[in-house]
Amino acid sequence: MEIKLVGVVGAGQMGNGIAHVFALAGYNVVMTDISEDSLSRALGTIEKNIERQVSRGKVMPADKRAAMERISTTLKLADLGQCDLIIEAATERETVKQAIFEDLLPHLKPTTILTSNTSSISITRLASRTDRPEKFMGFHFMNPVPVMQLVELIRGIATDQETWDTLHEVVRKLGKTAASAEDFPAFIVNRILMPMINEAVYTLYEGVGSVKSIDESLKLGANHPMGPLELADFIGLDTCLAIMNVLHEGLADTKYRPCPLLTKYVEAGWLGRKTQRGFYDYRGEVPVPTR
Ligand code: NAD
Repeated sequence: MEIKLVGVVGAGQMGNGIAHVFALAGYNVVMTDISEDSLSRALGTIEKNIERQVSRGKVMPADKRAAMERISTTLKLADLGQCDLIIEAATERETVKQAIFEDLLPHLKPTTILTSNTSSISITRLASRTDRPEKFMGFHFMNPVPVMQLVELIRGIATDQETWDTLHEVVRKLGKTAASAEDFPAFIVNRILMPMINEAVYTLYEGVGSVKSIDESLKLGANHPMGPLELADFIGLDTCLAIMNVLHEGLADTKYRPCPLLTKYVEAGWLGRKTQRGFYDYRGEVPVPTR
């Protein structure tokens, strides 16, 4: 099936990155959010990020202009009705995602493929609430989307081969690489990555190390490009907690118990970079550890 018009629901850090890469690859994109502010911020971020690619010689100035012209924004979900492919990238909460698909369904063409960029929520369960579980898939981009090469393709129980093949071809057109994952909690990347981040928070909680020593240890001792706490701030601590909860509940194993300190930061509204404070305080010139 040929994909031309792509709808992106949620214009946060993932939504704007997804709109960015699709527009640069020649797809027309309609982006929606519940907040006008998020939409205008997303357009600003996309413009700035493509400009950076231009200054590095990775994108031609004319391609930047064309890509920006391919992106439109709307506050109305109904305006996504003509899309061939929808990518839901709203807040990591199942009720939010379910409500979005429910509101979208009456406006869609019968052929529209529905996908979610969820980091952890069951694709099969989200799909079962729609009228097209065979045309529903997990389409999991990594953060930051314009930089990261991988896209996880998650097959729900009912997903048909044509849908998988279509998305596989889209990933190829984006110049990225697909990895296939089965639909179990947090799929592949986050099943492995998130318990490591959670363990880093426990290491901090138990006083084994400070924010600085934990991050330095993993960077210099395991050759990770970012420390786990720095990475948690980058992902968003609310998203990290939501993924740990899905692992904990979905696999019913205490080894996935979210660290109480992670919960505490989320309760404080210290969600990482996006709120300027998390394991680091980003309000000054350089990030300062908060513990
Ligand atoms: P974010 O908080 O930056 O953005 C979420 C956006 O969704 C916000 O702009 C919010 O206004 C919008 N939103 C909330 N409810 C909505 C609704 N009903 N309709 C339309 N928009 C709505 O979050 P994010 O980091 O971009 O994460 C989005 C999704 O991507 C989540 O499912 C997350 O698990 C997944 N994801 C995140 C990362 C990451 O590193 N942050 C990586 C891969 C996947």
